[in-house]
Formats: sequence, structure tokens, C-alpha cells
Amino acid sequence: MDDPAVSAASGTSAGSVVSGGETIDVHVHLTAGHTETLLETLDEAGVDRAVVLATPHLDPTISEPGMSGYRRANATVMAAAAAFPERLVAFLAVDLGVTDPAYVAEQLDAGACGVKLYQGHRALHERPLDDPLHHPMFRLLERRRVPVLLHVNTVRFRDELDRLLARFPGLNVVCAHMCGSRTDLDRLASIMADHPTLLFDTSLGSGVHGATGLANLEAHRDQILAMIARAPERFLFGSDLVTSGRAPEAKDEWRAHVTANRSFLTESRFRFWRQGAGSIGMTIEDYRGLALDEPLRSRLLATNARRWLGACLSPRAGAAATTGSRSHRRGLPTHRATTRELRSPPPHPHHVALPRPR
Ligand SMILES: [Zn+2]
Repeated sequence: MDDPAVSAASGTSAGSVVSGGETIDVHVHLTAGHTETLLETLDEAGVDRAVVLATPHLDPTISEPGMSGYRRANATVMAAAAAFPERLVAFLAVDLGVTDPAYVAEQLDAGACGVKLYQGHRALHERPLDDPLHHPMFRLLERRRVPVLLHVNTVRFRDELDRLLARFPGLNVVCAHMCGSRTDLDRLASIMADHPTLLFDTSLGSGVHGATGLANLEAHRDQILAMIARAPERFLFGSDLVTSGRAPEAKDEWRAHVTANRSFLTESRFRFWRQGAGSIGMTIEDYRGLALDEPLRSRLLATNARRWLGACLSPRAGAAATTGSRSHRRGLPTHRATTRELRSPPPHPHHVALPRPR
């Protein structure tokens, strides 16, 4: 925290990346084993720790369709977190209804922290989220209070989410992308009211969904600010970075993506993809950010994630992390996100036609 390099890089001007205090990114898809380049990206974006999600369906090194390559994807994030325990937190992918809960329990005992569930995504939705076939897995996750990051399309599957959380009220869930409700904050408010213990990550997403979601958040900035101010303990910073593309060439884009998602919370202006009017093309444009002040800022950037991840962090954290010091980081150049960095169209990790598992 007192690192002069960090202090010098602090600031609230548009585009500044590094600011004081700890940052934990709860939503990073680590694919293709790009661990080293991811760590460099996190260093440059000022992120201390990241939850790395096993992502079999987006990993070019895994040929099995849908979730079926989950064991290999899990091995990737487990190895990464084991190698860099003070930086990376491993979340398993599971094939709900197929994966044996005993395997998950084993992986949790071996150091996995949480589970990412993708089956609330339309393209990976094999059966209702609350299907009885899934109950043994949810019983395990509930019993052990395992942190769960859940992707769910709440336009299509909200009733399933409602039934799932009613049946397993002890699940420790963060619902990704503001529970798929960035374009409908009234729906988000209603979900928050219906499920008082449900948490939300603030990741914007990619592609058209990211751009339209952010445009709506900007248009309803006062509303989302009021929702965060009313329940600041329920929102967690996530970037939804996917380490796709060639490493290290893609690093500038990754950094710009992480930075934009963080700047949405912390800055008054930042740049991100915007859908052009009457056009299918997207361009990099200015957006108005939420410019959260303390104490909200540190709650969303780190405190809430610390509480959610709980015991996963403490045994490995060491003194540096518990004081929020960046001494465990590598060198941190001051950096400004520029248009140049967001130069190629964003990937559509959750929105392209994913192979439908059968
Ligand atoms: Zn994601």
C-alpha cells in the first residue's frame, strides 16, 4: 500500500489503471495454459489476485465438446494456482449431472477453492439448473460452503435459479454479469430482493452483450449507483477476461479488457466497445464510469471477494496479501489504456455458437 511506485501511479483520471488498495478479480477464464502471460497482464492492470476458472468449452487445447473436457481444464487451473498460490485461486468446471461429487470433493481437498457453473448459459443448458440429477452436486457445494460462480441467463432461466436457491439456501453463489441483468436493472433489483444472500459480479462481458449491457448501465447510472450504495456488500469486481488468442501477443488486449472492467467501477471516464447505431460494427468509445469512492471502492474491488473466498485465501496468503501490500507483485509500470490497445474486435466467449453438449 505504501509502495511509492504504486502511489505514484494512483489517480482518478480517466484511463489510469493502478490505484491504491488491493484488487481481486473474481472472474478470469484461464485457457490454453497461458498462466505466465495472465500474471503479467494482472501485474500491469494492477490486479493482485484472480479467480481462475476452468473453461473447457473455450479452451483451444481441449477438443472434447461442451463441458466434457472439464478434468483437463481443471488440471490447468489447479496447476496454475498451485504454482502461484498468492496470485491465483482455482475454480473447477463441472459437468452438472455427470461429474461425480466425490471427484469435486477430492479436488477441493487438493486445493481447489470453488466451482464455476456454466449450465445457466443457453448454449450449455442441458437440463433445468435445479434438475434432481444435479442435487448431489449442489448438496456438496452447500454443505461445504463452496464459493460458486454461476452464469445464468435470467431472461430464460430465472425460475430455475429461484427454485435452485430455494432448495439450497446455503449455496455461496456469486451470479455473474450482475446475474445477466445488465440490460434490466429492475430485474436485478427484483432478483436481489428475492435472494438476499445472492452476490453479483460486475463483469461487463464481451462482444455485443458487453457493449449493450454497459450502454444500459451508463444510461441508468444513477440507478445502479443507488443499488450499489444500498447493498455494497453484494457486488464484486470481475473482468470476465478470457485468455484466448496467442500469448503473449494478446496481452495488450487482455490488459485493456481487465482495465476497462475495473475502470467502469473506479473511474469517471473510460473506454470500451460500443455498438454503433444502425450498424453491426463496434468501435471503442468513451463511457461514463461509476467513479466509486471509498469505502465502496475497496469493498467492490477486494473486501467482498475476500469474504466470499474466505478460507481459500488465508492459509496461503501470507502477510503481504493480508495487509493489501503489493510487495508480492512484480514491477508495476504506470499504464494508460488507449484506443490502440483495444484494436481488434473483442472475442465473444459466451455468445458465439457454442457446441451444444449432448
Ligand atoms: Zn465468463
